[in-house]
Amino acid sequence: MNAELQPSTRDYRLLIGGRLVPGASSFEVINPATERVLALCPRADVAQLNQAVAAAKSAFGTWSARPLRERGALLLKLADALSAKSEEFARLLTQEQGKPLPQAFGEVAGSVAMLRTFAGMDLPVKVLKETESTRVLQQRVPLGVVAAITPWNFPLILLMIKVGPALLAGDTLVVKPAPSTPLTTLRFGELCAELLPAGVVNVIADQNDLGSALTSHPDIAKVAFTGSTATGRKVMASVASTLKRLTLELGGNDAAIVLDDVDPKEIAPKIFAGAMVNTGQVCLAIKRVYAPDSIYEELCAELARLAEAAVVGDGLTAGSQYGPLQNKAQFDKVQGYIADARAHGKIIAGGTPVKGPGYFIRPTIVRDIADDTRLVREEQFGPILPVLRYSDLNDAIARANATEYGLGATVWSKDPQRATEVALKIDSGTVWVNKHLDLQPDVPFGGAKQSGFGRELGQEGLEEFTQAKIINIAR
Ligand code: NAD
Repeated sequence: MNAELQPSTRDYRLLIGGRLVPGASSFEVINPATERVLALCPRADVAQLNQAVAAAKSAFGTWSARPLRERGALLLKLADALSAKSEEFARLLTQEQGKPLPQAFGEVAGSVAMLRTFAGMDLPVKVLKETESTRVLQQRVPLGVVAAITPWNFPLILLMIKVGPALLAGDTLVVKPAPSTPLTTLRFGELCAELLPAGVVNVIADQNDLGSALTSHPDIAKVAFTGSTATGRKVMASVASTLKRLTLELGGNDAAIVLDDVDPKEIAPKIFAGAMVNTGQVCLAIKRVYAPDSIYEELCAELARLAEAAVVGDGLTAGSQYGPLQNKAQFDKVQGYIADARAHGKIIAGGTPVKGPGYFIRPTIVRDIADDTRLVREEQFGPILPVLRYSDLNDAIARANATEYGLGATVWSKDPQRATEVALKIDSGTVWVNKHLDLQPDVPFGGAKQSGFGRELGQEGLEEFTQAKIINIAR
């Protein structure tokens, strides 16, 4: 297959049992910047899903029996192959997902780094206890077939943080991307077809219709799911019938708490970037800002100034900072939040549609809006940021915590110690102090409350793809 072909003239295939195969049918993938058809995606049916699971199941015995270092070496080869095709993957990612090309390059580089990090990790047998009469060992054993289900905001890197640890641990996979961003995943499947034994990684694509068949399949041992909290609840119900292992990386409504000692001019660009990166379509994006009375006016004005200056456009156009919303449904949803903000708050920048084509919405800043509005309570997942006022810091912390979500949060202050004390009181999986989105391959992350459970990245993220086995020896 010619890597130079345009996405629209390329033939995308599912990967089942080591073979690249057409789908039972196909569907169109839309470029959200142009609303034109980008490519045809093969669509699997239930029979193909079953074949993919069967292939992964039959590959498991040999794959899991290979020494961990051999699996790590193959993972490194996969990382090298992806790295060698960075440009092709980045351009395809921009066209299917919408993000500006430099950010797509960043996602590809991050994906390579994730694979390399997991390739170098280990699962040594641990001695848990040693006495005169007993020696207790703990071994980490693979689970079997893992279903990896991913969303459309970071289709490549969110896949790699499942594929990397699963393969190193000795599991095999059936991968299913979101229907609006399947192409980079299918292309990654081609690399797997070249480099891995048949059946170790299988890639299927659907139109949001195969999820429950996959999560309830009796031969799947674990589901590694990233997506919305609403779908996460369905996944959890579905895996219950066979008591599968489960990690859920779900939605968030992350608060930024700004303390009264900051310089609004210095902090505003960081908050703005944290809210608007990837056009706000980040699980860990800043989704609400709590600012004290003393700097509220100035912070709002600075954020509005940044929103007015933002360059919105096709991610392939040089200089674009913010691409389109990824799909029409999300575009419509965000328009709904703008209408809500107009009715209940004051829009001080953005809020007007961009002339088409493309699902573009300019960064939008909203002030003087109450905590009980939809924009503040729900996950907007788009470029619209409410700025809320507070007079008492403890009250702001309580308001930040008054949500079913608990994914991330940020605290901003000139005094890191004071900010850390605030961070200790926030109910979420991650709190950053004076920085944002610093996700490192060796630091675990995941949700609290209804933002999910289980961890990805780090040693914990690797061990999620195993189970602990105890060997208790008499001496
Ligand atoms: P989504 O829940 O609609 O879809 C996610 C995936 O689930 C897709 O592949 C979809 O096809 C599949 N799916 C749909 N119905 C299913 C079912 N019944 N069973 C199994 N799978 C099913 O999410 P989305 O709209 O693609 O992504 C946006 C959401 O993802 C946001 O809420 C965002 O916060 C969240 N997210 C979370 C993280 C995290 O790490 N916590 C990271 C990125 C995105």
